[in-house]
Amino acid sequence: MKRKVRNGGWTLIELIIIIVILGIIASVTIPAYMDMTSSAEINGCQASQGTIRSAVAMHYAKNKGVLPDSLTTGMFVNDEIPECSTSGSITYTKTSDSTFTVQCSIPEHNTPAVNP
Ligand SMILES: [Zn+2]
Repeated sequence: MKRKVRNGGWTLIELIIIIVILGIIASVTIPAYMDMTSSAEINGCQASQGTIRSAVAMHYAKNKGVLPDSLTTGMFVNDEIPECSTSGSITYTKTSDSTFTVQCSIPEHNTPAVNP
């Protein structure tokens, strides 16, 4: 009986097994990566909202209990009003003489309101 001589290439079965293994790895890692990027975006936006709340609270303390009517660049150390980490926009609203809200236009990005 003549024995089949291998020429160093891969058989179809070996290639199929490798493709299946790569598919299993991709199906586990890609959803985990997607969750990480969306939670990073939410955390980035919440950090910006926290910076705005702190700046408003500092303005409130410095100005003897008067909240700013709107955000100004001078309230922030780097002279930039923090923005949403994605396509949303963060709005500051003075709701009374001593209360305010800071919210992102993307509902998932919002943290509970904190007042001074
Ligand atoms: Zn946002």
